[in-house]
Amino acid sequence: MTTITRFAPSPTGRLHVGNIRTALHNWMLARKAGGRFLLRIDDTDAARSREEYVEAIRADLEWLGLEPDGEERQSERLEKYEAAFEALKAAGRVYPAYETAQELELKRKIQLGRGLPPIYDRGSLKLTDEERAAKEAEGVVPHWRFRLDHEEPIRWDDGVRGLQKFDPAQLSDPVIRRADGSWLYMLPSAVDDLDMGVTDVLRGEDHVSNTAVQIQMFTALVATRYSGAQMPRFAHEALLVGKEGKLSKRLGSLGCDAFCERDIEPEALVAMLARLGTSQPVEPIADRAKLVEAFDLSTFGRAPAKFDDTELDRLNAAIVHQMAFEDVKDRLPEGMDEAGWHAVQPNLTHVSEASDWWKLVTGPIESCEFSPEDSAFLAAAAQALSWSETPWQDLTATLKQSTGRGGKALFLPLRQALTGMDHGPDMKELLPLIGEAEARARLERAAS
Ligand code: GLU
Repeated sequence: MTTITRFAPSPTGRLHVGNIRTALHNWMLARKAGGRFLLRIDDTDAARSREEYVEAIRADLEWLGLEPDGEERQSERLEKYEAAFEALKAAGRVYPAYETAQELELKRKIQLGRGLPPIYDRGSLKLTDEERAAKEAEGVVPHWRFRLDHEEPIRWDDGVRGLQKFDPAQLSDPVIRRADGSWLYMLPSAVDDLDMGVTDVLRGEDHVSNTAVQIQMFTALVATRYSGAQMPRFAHEALLVGKEGKLSKRLGSLGCDAFCERDIEPEALVAMLARLGTSQPVEPIADRAKLVEAFDLSTFGRAPAKFDDTELDRLNAAIVHQMAFEDVKDRLPEGMDEAGWHAVQPNLTHVSEASDWWKLVTGPIESCEFSPEDSAFLAAAAQALSWSETPWQDLTATLKQSTGRGGKALFLPLRQALTGMDHGPDMKELLPLIGEAEARARLERAAS
């Protein structure tokens, strides 16, 4: 059976690093199995869903290189949910509930006050036909709950967490539909997973108890409208937390736009998120195929995965150091050719820093203060400068001979005179780019 995974964001905001990670893992799982990766827009909440976020989600996935093999929108599938709802209702698995939000809150408070778990007491399920009719005559419009089967223990073998067991009696019958007819997340998601042949549901561990409930929905749907359909496998990955060990507000709003602004390469983010929280080492692997090949749910740990910005910068640098000129040339400063790229590349953490280093070639450069001895040395350097394929090697060899200088005393004043800085790209690569006339002018200026 073809592996089908889905990434199912609600378009109520931008993607953040946590759901980017879930998207990536679903993409990898599908790619590794030669299967399909679907984007499902969970937009049943019309009030909170916005088209601009749908577009941003698509653009973010494209930037990340996680192109989906298909896209579905829940808002276009409402008849499917309606039909499933009717089937479940006919089977007695869905019932109307009349409590107001305030009544429910009060019940919760009382239960908690008595030290009891705040499980819905099925007040509405216990109503007689007459009581129900009376409520409706009063004009109370019901919302709808899915009736959990308390006799049916819930178990599944989770791809990350291993065997999971839930006692349905310890769960509330979930509300699946509001009084205005709109859908909550639970039922549409289960309907879609069956209808689209999703084989693997991989999501964050904040969904574990939803899965418990949805397993009963899957079973009820297969017994009614979706006979012959296969319930997906489930895996819940540990959540992503900040370095400080908590899911910070910052992390919850850290998205592709912020990474772009920081000039983080998508490959760096992908390499990091692919393995964070797994037993595999996080490495600067730019080759997707390699990451996909090594993807293995059994390496995923139960402990929260820690997201560290410093580590991301480190990975970014390592990815940038591997990038070919062809892949970056459109982002480089005017006039920087392949030799220029190779000269500055090892000094970069982010590609955007190339323009700072390029100023050392194009000038003007900062002027440095030199001692009288160094000035004399630089005057000799201006004299000695001769041009070849290897001007830096020639210059330093000549000066070493003629002045007896070595090490820092030889190299530092030259670097300072030629670039205005104490450190920077390899002078062997930089000097040919600066050019003979400009190099001599800089040395003479420093000597004077
Ligand atoms: N729309 C849901 C969410 O963003 C999807 C969860 C799921 O993967 O089923 O949390």
